[in-house]
Amino acid sequence: SQKALIVGSGIAGIASSIRLAIKGYQVEVFEANAYPGGKLSEIQLGGYRFDAGPSLFTLPEQVEELFRLAGKDPQEHFDYQKLEVACHYFWEDGKQIKAWADINRFAEEVETKLGEPAQHIRQALKNSAYIYEHLAPLFMHRSLHQLSTWTNAQAIKSYLKMGKLGIFSTMNQANKNQFQNPKLVQLFNRYATYNGSDPYQTPATLNIIPHLEFNIGAYFPKKGMHDITLSLYQLALDLGVKFHFNSKVEEILVEKGKAVGILVNGETHSADVIVNNMDMVNAYKTILRKQKQPEKLLSQPKSSSALIFYWGIKKNFHELGLHNILFSDDYQTEFEHIFKKGSIYQDPTVYINITSVCKPDDAPEGCMNWFTMINVPNNQGQDWDSLIAKARKNMISKINRILNTDLESLIEVEDVLEPRSIEFKTSSANGALYGNSSNNRFAAFLRHANYSSDIKNLFFCGGSVHPGGGIPLSLLSAKIMSGFIPSP
Ligand code: FAD
Repeated sequence: SQKALIVGSGIAGIASSIRLAIKGYQVEVFEANAYPGGKLSEIQLGGYRFDAGPSLFTLPEQVEELFRLAGKDPQEHFDYQKLEVACHYFWEDGKQIKAWADINRFAEEVETKLGEPAQHIRQALKNSAYIYEHLAPLFMHRSLHQLSTWTNAQAIKSYLKMGKLGIFSTMNQANKNQFQNPKLVQLFNRYATYNGSDPYQTPATLNIIPHLEFNIGAYFPKKGMHDITLSLYQLALDLGVKFHFNSKVEEILVEKGKAVGILVNGETHSADVIVNNMDMVNAYKTILRKQKQPEKLLSQPKSSSALIFYWGIKKNFHELGLHNILFSDDYQTEFEHIFKKGSIYQDPTVYINITSVCKPDDAPEGCMNWFTMINVPNNQGQDWDSLIAKARKNMISKINRILNTDLESLIEVEDVLEPRSIEFKTSSANGALYGNSSNNRFAAFLRHANYSSDIKNLFFCGGSVHPGGGIPLSLLSAKIMSGFIPSP
């Protein structure tokens, strides 16, 4: 039978292994780390468990589809719940709101607490749905790199509506037109960070994202985010996929314009199909260094990175939910620091993710597991030790002000993840969370295709290639990619 080798066991690498095994390939995955999942992994600190990277889960059907393809009932293997509250928002002036999943309830909450007419929320989410309906079929479910995508009737319909799809204004401009209260503009601008972009630069097209969270829904896997990795890894094993851990691929071997194998620990493994799940930029710099380089793509600005403190907190804060945001008083200056100055603003927006709210065994009784994160620039060789030390102080004093507490005295255990360690652990260029940024209008067109146009039998999946970063799009990259691979 024909053989497919996959470089990397990120979530897209695992999804690709499942799809190719179902197609009839004999599949082997080579992973540099000792564990599967890449960014989607977990850590344990004393009595606390933390999801290490992604915390927000949308489009669960992308996971379920893989079980169905394999002829299994997804509910028996991967269980999740819909969130009633997508996020708890806090501001320095004491205002607090809950973003209820029920749009009408959210709209009423916003009208009562922030004085923004409920109708504005309903209209904004309708606009968001409109962008989704017109762009998802085109951008998310197909390759942008095939002529047929551009000439089908749906595409032509979309071009005619580009004005309404927000390609010509920024997200911030569009949100200022939709809302009168600056707090709502800020709340909706935050969605740019879901793919590591800057709301003051990124096109308003990214207003597609609130649709995912409100109209489609935000979810939580009952066993934690890491269960997305674990359940799909198990499915791959059940389908006969072979995983090699601690196996860093040194080179993708190319002969006469054709990928023929990989080099691992000095040994050659031959194959009919090679799939690269490693970050595209670092892949060209290392395992494809001898091949023609897509210079334009490699030089695109990267998305932002993150600074995360995993804190075991020996207290229960009843005002906090699964997702919490403590907003900066000056959002624009915060983003200028991240995207223009390559630095961290002294009043950062703090995100606190607490899975023990939904999954109590993630923390000891009466305690909480805080994944406390701020957006930071990607790694350009800044003096991170001093930036991180300052940011830690600023984050704690912000939390103390807003939650009226003394956090330092409640921290039982601590670990940290930052741009350098993100790059070190998953080989992501500059520690960026989502590959290239979407800060300019053409960025969506400037992602690497799901196949190589120079090298036969070489394919690409993952958050750094088309259609984009984040779990749902990474899973879709595997789907689009496998569409190009013929059955053996
Ligand atoms: P990656 O997870 O990047 O994994 C690539 C794998 O390839 C790694 O395991 C790496 O070790 C391996 N590898 C690299 N080089 C080699 C080599 N030479 N040989 C062998 N193996 C190699 N997304 C969301 O949807 N929601 C969120 O809330 C969210 N929050 C995030 C927060 C953080 C802190 C981070 C870091 C990311 C977040 N993301 C979020 C983004 C999401 O994690 C990624 O888009 C997604 O997991 C990328 O998956 P991937 O398949 O591209 O592979």
